[in-house]
Amino acid sequence: MTHNPAQDLQDYLIFGEYGGVNPSVTDSATFTFLDPATMAELFEHEMEGCFLYSRHWNPTNKALADGLAVMEGSEAAQVTASGMAAISAAVMQLAGQGDEVVSGRTIYGGTYALFKHFLPRFGVQTNFVDIQDVTAVEAAITPNTKLIYCESISNPLLQVADLPALSEIAHRHGILLVVDNTFSPLIISPLDLGADIVVYSLTKFINGTNDTVAGAICGSKEFINQLVNVTSGATMLLGPVLDSFRAASILRNMHSLHIRMKQHSRNAQYLAERLQTLGLTVHYPGLLNHPQHDHMTRLMNEEFGYGGMLVLDMKELALANELMMRMQEAKVGYLAVSLGFYKTLFSAPGSSTSSEIPEEEQARMGLSPGMVRMSVGLDDDIERTYQRIKRCLDEMGVLETEELRIVN
Ligand SMILES: *Cc1c(COP(=O)(O)O)cnc(C)c1O
Repeated sequence: MTHNPAQDLQDYLIFGEYGGVNPSVTDSATFTFLDPATMAELFEHEMEGCFLYSRHWNPTNKALADGLAVMEGSEAAQVTASGMAAISAAVMQLAGQGDEVVSGRTIYGGTYALFKHFLPRFGVQTNFVDIQDVTAVEAAITPNTKLIYCESISNPLLQVADLPALSEIAHRHGILLVVDNTFSPLIISPLDLGADIVVYSLTKFINGTNDTVAGAICGSKEFINQLVNVTSGATMLLGPVLDSFRAASILRNMHSLHIRMKQHSRNAQYLAERLQTLGLTVHYPGLLNHPQHDHMTRLMNEEFGYGGMLVLDMKELALANELMMRMQEAKVGYLAVSLGFYKTLFSAPGSSTSSEIPEEEQARMGLSPGMVRMSVGLDDDIERTYQRIKRCLDEMGVLETEELRIVN
């Protein structure tokens, strides 16, 4: 049997310094040694439970990282100051001058920009492919390819990657599968499905309160040790260290993640179904007409639902913008980027989170300028929220428009 991510996390007991039920926040950049020989040894190799300097390891960060490893079923994990830090450190650890990455085209805008514009400065080229087309993924692999990169549920189109097929291809070519699971913590367990490394923006669902940015990398003990190596490690040398106060607050929030994910999914499923019934084009993996609905049903940890993200396609940017302004006015949520918050957040990906991607490329990906991406909140009365959205649509008169009524 594969691990149970939520219950395993519930079973992860932490004893604080004085037996506290939460770890003590280690308010120290550096740590003392009773013996100089131990210090010298720690520079040579990792020693479990031994701390040197907070950019290397910090006890509070270690407590959060261990909790993430338990949740993912990985041997180890490392936490970082942002999701982008986790992604850039993991990829830069694996690929250098002359190496290549094969990546899905429909990825987070920041990651796309990192691969497309930043990593080529260091001699790392990325072949972007349609991640749904596994034949194209395999064809893009060259002798220089070090990894396949994808998002388990892609941003913003909510396509669900075939992780077992991608990992099979990666391993047959002797390379790694790196998966960004930011949209689907607990819902999808990439390592159970064959992935080698999972990266997260903890900023989103895992923390859930939008009070900080943070990230994580989960993988083998060997890989995590490589990242913190004092002479060659990407997190050690690039230095995107998470502050221990934040690590402690994220860990506290993470213990309610299973309850929150179920509610996000329940609410998003409800809105997706009701909005689709109005004749609107809705992208949500929990809808029967979503192209990867059956596929996701097979891969997912069922009890957590199909996630909190849905996309409503208003076809035109002006309509998307008007709807978002009305929804903010009607207290549906906030016009803001980011996701995984207890309030609903919405933005138009084409002109915000995916704006790093050129317009022609956006069209190639299937992004429509009228898309409204919604991260559905933890609303207790989602029917009331639905009625508020419906009133906005009624006031805009769009429900009378034939074009929008085409049932997809
Ligand atoms: C937000 C996000 C990131 C980047 O994370 P930060 O914490 O903002 O650095 C990466 N991937 C996905 C899918 C995201 O949504």
